[in-house]
Amino acid sequence: MFRKLVVALSLATVVTNSVFAQNREYALVIHGGAGAMGSLEDDPEKSVIYYAALDSALMIGNDMLAQGIAGAQVVMAVVNYLENNPLFNAGKGATCTIDGQFELDAAIMEGKDLSAGAVAGVKTVKNPINAAYAVKTNSKHVMLSGQGADQFAAEQELELVENMHFATPKTMAWIEELKEKSKKNGTVGCVVYDTEGNLVAGTSTGGMFKKQWGRVGDAPVIGAGTYADNASCGVSCTGHGEYFIRHAVAFNLCARNKYLGEPVQEAADYIIKTELNTDAGNGGLIAIDKEGNVAMSYNSKGMFRGYLIKDKGNDQPEKGVAIGEKMVIWNP
Ligand code: ASP
Repeated sequence: MFRKLVVALSLATVVTNSVFAQNREYALVIHGGAGAMGSLEDDPEKSVIYYAALDSALMIGNDMLAQGIAGAQVVMAVVNYLENNPLFNAGKGATCTIDGQFELDAAIMEGKDLSAGAVAGVKTVKNPINAAYAVKTNSKHVMLSGQGADQFAAEQELELVENMHFATPKTMAWIEELKEKSKKNGTVGCVVYDTEGNLVAGTSTGGMFKKQWGRVGDAPVIGAGTYADNASCGVSCTGHGEYFIRHAVAFNLCARNKYLGEPVQEAADYIIKTELNTDAGNGGLIAIDKEGNVAMSYNSKGMFRGYLIKDKGNDQPEKGVAIGEKMVIWNP
């Protein structure tokens, strides 16, 4: 049962080493939320649980991308895995509203045609990212919210659950206490550069702990928490949503890349570490540009994250997972 951890590279080295983008066959980057979890990487027992979950999500994506499956299907499968994993603040494991309920937000966007779908405040959809995809694909709208979104998901024959399905022992304790301090596990997100060169971004979240019922965060707001455009980048964000909405973070990154020609990592760092670098605006993002370059940036103590890149001519993809600064190669 021993797993071998090789602390291999700092994040900066990983990104610098990954610039041969004209050779990129596919790429995948994920996040599991940002926050004050930086010290978790020093706890070997707790951190391995997160590394294993992040790596499993990467490998689900890798298997599908290697078969040439389209980016949107890959994003949904990866996000479904993270939504069903109670470690993260999305689907089961989602944080709760001030009145002890679960209201979930999700969005998905495709860079090839700017098609997008989002749901906000759904209470019964087991996998909100699937409802977002259904809005994108089977409705003429971009975002549905509340009861209308739940009803639409039912009509689409998506799997429905009782609201308390999303509870875990941890969130039940929060509901009972509803402590003053902000609590969250970690939103999830995935960006894919598929074998066709299409960029797809998806984000799914329970939102912020003790949020006002009816509150909508950045995740389902196209251009704030989620965006994809094959002319620039795919982006998924995590953090204090109100600030990500005000700064239109996901679109802002794409605009910096597209109009200023800023490399994706530079644009991500500028927005996260300069524009958003306040206590209130903490969080991070993951992104991939139109050449398959991967970027990850955060201004909090940590961000659960992982990347996987496969270049043409290489047998194996390169990958890594991280919580705080250390990028870890995970070999189960
Ligand atoms: N961005 C999410 C929201 O504000 C929360 C998070 O990413 O942790 O709803």
